[in-house]
Amino acid sequence: MHILVTNDDGVQAPGLLALAQAMKPLGKVTVFAPDKNWSGAGHVKTLDRPLRVNKTQLSDGTPALMSDGAPSDCVALALLGLVKDVDLIVSGINPYSNIGQDMTYSGTVTAAMEAVIANVPGLAFSLASQDNPSSGAPDYGPAGHVAQKVAKNVIENRLPKGVLLNVNVPYLKETEFKGFQITRQGQRVYLDELVERVDPRGQPYYWIGGEQPTGIIEDGTDYGALQAGYVSITPLQLDLTAREAMATLQKWNW
Ligand code: MN
Repeated sequence: MHILVTNDDGVQAPGLLALAQAMKPLGKVTVFAPDKNWSGAGHVKTLDRPLRVNKTQLSDGTPALMSDGAPSDCVALALLGLVKDVDLIVSGINPYSNIGQDMTYSGTVTAAMEAVIANVPGLAFSLASQDNPSSGAPDYGPAGHVAQKVAKNVIENRLPKGVLLNVNVPYLKETEFKGFQITRQGQRVYLDELVERVDPRGQPYYWIGGEQPTGIIEDGTDYGALQAGYVSITPLQLDLTAREAMATLQKWNW
């Protein structure tokens, strides 16, 4: 079992180290991640510039590859042959949850999407540390154990073709976990605000600002499970077709 570990927070992020360490008992681990933070950069395929790949190491001495591409570029480069015989791609551990409409923004999730496009199983792991903020860096220990359990299950049972798993872990002590729930995407509530400022030459510039997003608490959803203290496992696919809308559109005068 050869497991490729990536993320969207950059190769030196503590969540990546936790994930790499959690995968080591399950097989051979190769780390290949972006050299900078790509959070929120979504599903990227870089075609307009060359991609550089360099060797580095994690803080525990684990050898790693890094590139100046996006998370999905790292996965693509690996699966196009830069890394041989990869059986499983795991992405994370992101320090914040990825739920509801976050899917196409998330570099963590889109790295796993890139894996299933190449017919390799992909798993995305996020820790909902923003829902239970504490001072200092989040503790990735419990989420690492969850990642190991999920990966082990995927290795043993195999995922259906074209399916990736989006796993969100509540930021609780392991003894406080209620269990695992298989969920559907819920609804994010974004609290984004337009922030307009003026540069030293009098030209306006803009930020997407505002508060941290929340979500609608609903049974059976990713956000609902997290808020109730469960690890949320959402199977995703890249077919985004709105099937019910097809019948409506067919009734239009074409
Ligand atoms: Mn991130």
